[in-house]
Amino acid sequence: MPAHLLDGEIFAAQTHRETSARVTALKAKGIVPGLVFIRVGEDQASRAYVSRKEKRAQEVGIASRTLVLPESTPLATLLKEIDALNADPKVHGILIQSPLPSSLPNDLVYARVAPAKDVDGFHPLNFGKLLLGDPTGFLPCTPAGIMEILRLGKIPTAGKHAVVVGRGQIVGRPLALLLARKAPGADCTVTLAHSRTADLPAITRQADILIGALGQPLFLRKEHVKPGATVIDVGVNRLNDPANPRGYRLVGDVDFEAVKTVAGAITPNPGGVGPMTIALLLSNTARAAEDLSR
Ligand code: NAP
Repeated sequence: MPAHLLDGEIFAAQTHRETSARVTALKAKGIVPGLVFIRVGEDQASRAYVSRKEKRAQEVGIASRTLVLPESTPLATLLKEIDALNADPKVHGILIQSPLPSSLPNDLVYARVAPAKDVDGFHPLNFGKLLLGDPTGFLPCTPAGIMEILRLGKIPTAGKHAVVVGRGQIVGRPLALLLARKAPGADCTVTLAHSRTADLPAITRQADILIGALGQPLFLRKEHVKPGATVIDVGVNRLNDPANPRGYRLVGDVDFEAVKTVAGAITPNPGGVGPMTIALLLSNTARAAEDLSR
């Protein structure tokens, strides 16, 4: 039987409706949630990501704009711009689109965003709160979106073995923490695998929930998956494709066509984790506005 499709577009639409209702309630109190994206340089993929996020923000009633800075922007200038947004009462959320140019130190830049406006959840304070299980912090959007996919997809988690492939800072590491939390919708036994993991297929085949967050095109194949497992594909990879007008196509970390014949449930890619990441960003922004207006 083919796997049940965990459709991120449908789940995201549900989350957007909830966010939209919260935004309407804020507006009734005279508060218009504001979200500012900072994009440094002209990375093609970043431009596309930001314009998609901005469009969705406007659809749910969030006032959003993008501050575009040249690739050569000095660190001091960028930090000054962040300080100005931190001090602006009309701005409730700030998102710095990655990747930053290599001349700019990620850690310093992300740590400059006021934690109360850090709707991407990358500030060390919010990361620490995630580690401590303190719900007052902002959760990073992609891992939080994956937890929502599991919840809305009614995938049982308690006592299940979740294997996260990839220990990156943005997805794998925080996701492993969320899955292992002592909380409804979590309570998994978690294995965090990476490029030094020995005999990866033997480990992934033990997974009730398998998450590909490694950034390797079509890496997880049928032989990595236990029959009936839930498979979540986070990866966004460019695969050369001369037949495509762009010269490439985007694929995930999971060989969807093969894996869907053995998995119990699977996210499409695109249309799985990506839309939920945006949905959680906008939900976080509504929360920032709610918190800052109290
Ligand atoms: P990252 O920081 O580069 O981390 C990649 C991780 O994968 C590392 O831990 C690395 O291991 C591991 N890895 C690489 N090759 C491996 C292999 N052959 N076997 C096992 N593990 C391997 O990447 P990231 O920022 O976490 O992103 C991961 C993927 O998710 C990317 O494709 C990214 O584009 C995508 N992503 C998607 C969304 C979305 O909204 N859909 C959001 C964020 C990221 P080591 O630690 O040992 O090097």
